[in-house]
Amino acid sequence: MPTRRPYVGGNWKMNTDRTSGSRLARAVIDALARESAADVAIFPPFPYLITVGSILRDRPSAIRLGAQDCWTKPDGAFTGEVSAAMLRDCEVKVVLAGHSERRHVIGEPDELVGQKAQAILDGGLECILCIGETLKEREAGRTDEVNRRQLRAGLADVSREHLHRLTIAYEPVWAIGTGKTATPGDAQDAQAKVRGELAALYDSEAAESIRIMYGGSVKASNAAELFAQPDIDGGLIGGASLQADDFVAIVRAAASTPRR
Ligand code: PEP
Repeated sequence: MPTRRPYVGGNWKMNTDRTSGSRLARAVIDALARESAADVAIFPPFPYLITVGSILRDRPSAIRLGAQDCWTKPDGAFTGEVSAAMLRDCEVKVVLAGHSERRHVIGEPDELVGQKAQAILDGGLECILCIGETLKEREAGRTDEVNRRQLRAGLADVSREHLHRLTIAYEPVWAIGTGKTATPGDAQDAQAKVRGELAALYDSEAAESIRIMYGGSVKASNAAELFAQPDIDGGLIGGASLQADDFVAIVRAAASTPRR
């Protein structure tokens, strides 16, 4: 049975405002205050990081403050961007790289995602590297090839010593925000292959210790079935993270579901 600790992230995307984001953060923190069987991170929009960070600081909580993106350079003439150092300064602990909306809506190429992952890890932060295939790629039987390509590019310059701060999120693009979830078997199959690729890139000990989340329309009603799979170590949650009760139920499912 895997000993990896479950990990659940709530990606708020470009949702909430200062008042509703604060309310959501307080509700999640208070509900999970005495629960410690899973690691939890929340990813508010940039303008609310300080506000949510101060709420986290004021309450007894192990929930990590996360940011949804980060630029590759430490400082300089990059209008509109933020660096890993700035995020650390705002008490951010974990940053997403290569979320499917950044890849497919904003148009970030694999190489840029790799540079971001490296900047995040070099900056002393945790990185959640997101990978996953589009519907067209899945239908063409290219799921594993796409995951392998994104993983290789995403980790191109990531050294073994940084791997303890790395998490992978397998998020099939067709399942994100669509209500369609990969079957637990399909997600497990893809994630086992991702773990195999991590072993090829590093070694089997490293691959066994890196957590791989599943993301794509995870809900309270389907979370336990997904989290029971041996290579699914938690979830990256979009829509359902905007409702405190739903998100808390998903975290509890991750914390209490025995692995097969
Ligand atoms: C996500 O944003 O990473 C995500 C998985 O979204 P949703 O849960 O809404 O599909």
